[in-house]
Amino acid sequence: MKLIIDPGHGGEASEDNQNTGAEGSFLKYGEMIHITERELALTIARVLRNQLKRRFDIEVIMTRNTDIYVPLKRRTDLAADENPDALISIHFNGGPATARGLMHKQGHRICPLQQPSTNV
Ligand SMILES: [Zn+2]
Repeated sequence: MKLIIDPGHGGEASEDNQNTGAEGSFLKYGEMIHITERELALTIARVLRNQLKRRFDIEVIMTRNTDIYVPLKRRTDLAADENPDALISIHFNGGPATARGLMHKQGHRICPLQQPSTNV
């Protein structure tokens, strides 16, 4: 089995890189920690790659292995060239500090998952 893992975003903002992903902060042991979606996606992608390779001997290709900008076209070209069995693209959404549980966004409305949405 061949799998492509695509850690979303990557790299610093630039003329070519307009979307560096969500950013946020959280309190850990009294210290405010700043985290970016691109760093978190890369960390999760590396852990997933290592676990899949070790446990299942799956061939894993990453669209990026460091915090660099990879244009969407290059990501889709890689997927077309490699013809994987599956592709996983990893992203995270931001939310207000008061959020509890998971949130999802549909249209312009953000609502807690436990509340039914009218925009299916
Ligand atoms: Zn994203």
